[in-house]
Amino acid sequence: MIKVPTPFAVGDVNLYLVGDTLIDTGPRTPEALKVLDGLNLDSIVNVVITHGHVDHHGLAYYLKEKTDCTVFVHKNDLLTVTDYENELDKKSQTYADFLKKSGLSEKLVLHFKEYYHELRTYGERCPAEPLKEKVMTEQGAMQVIHTPGHTGGSCCFVMGDVLYAGDTLLPTISTNPSIHAVFDETCGLKAYQQSLRTLSQIRVDTVFPGHGAVIKDHIARIHTILKEHEQRRLTVLDSLQETPQSLAEVTKVVFGNIPASEVLLALAECYDYLKILERERIVCIYEEKGTILARVL
Ligand SMILES: [Zn+2]
Repeated sequence: MIKVPTPFAVGDVNLYLVGDTLIDTGPRTPEALKVLDGLNLDSIVNVVITHGHVDHHGLAYYLKEKTDCTVFVHKNDLLTVTDYENELDKKSQTYADFLKKSGLSEKLVLHFKEYYHELRTYGERCPAEPLKEKVMTEQGAMQVIHTPGHTGGSCCFVMGDVLYAGDTLLPTISTNPSIHAVFDETCGLKAYQQSLRTLSQIRVDTVFPGHGAVIKDHIARIHTILKEHEQRRLTVLDSLQETPQSLAEVTKVVFGNIPASEVLLALAECYDYLKILERERIVCIYEEKGTILARVL
């Protein structure tokens, strides 16, 4: 496990070297670069990216230039890596529209946009290939398991009795499955829970996550996460009233005051739970004068 610092609240990102194959790269910051330059990566042949978030792929181009390696990422996250800057701009606009519709103040939407713009410096576009069923490494074939939820192209990799989980399974923090659900319906809580069920069927001894410490009992961890989801669903339900509230108001009851860096995560998560409650016919979500409102039925 190679720990690489990130400028994000999540802390270090974990990279893994499996023979001639590197899993994830870290963000494009001087601090992360210093760690990579201290390793002997000259002979790497493949870089595989667990998912299209910049703390995981930001240095892909740097490594490709340096070693002429092939960069692989799932086809659903391919553009995020190959056309990073443009994709970031597109997402920034989509998210800003979503935040406005949530009923968030103009000032907070602006803060969010400024925060999001900073992400530009942490990565750069890099030519990449779509992942196939397996990645051939020096140490044998690594099986690719598509686990959508956190992003549409999130993948885990199995090699012998080891699973490399990216952000699909983390030891202490809960993975946010909802931010991509704002524009991609293959993501979201339901998809993520299905991916967790897929992972619970896999017999491995050790799970190496994208952040934090090794997970020894991944089935117990999956049960804990599913229980937390049920708890959060009840918290969201409790925050609702018979009179309509905007999505921003519901989110404030659930999470309290949130900094600009976390506001999208919190709103998207609440929206995801509301949609589940709507499917259960407990809640009604509708739009009025361009604002998303919810109330209990
Ligand atoms: Zn991450």
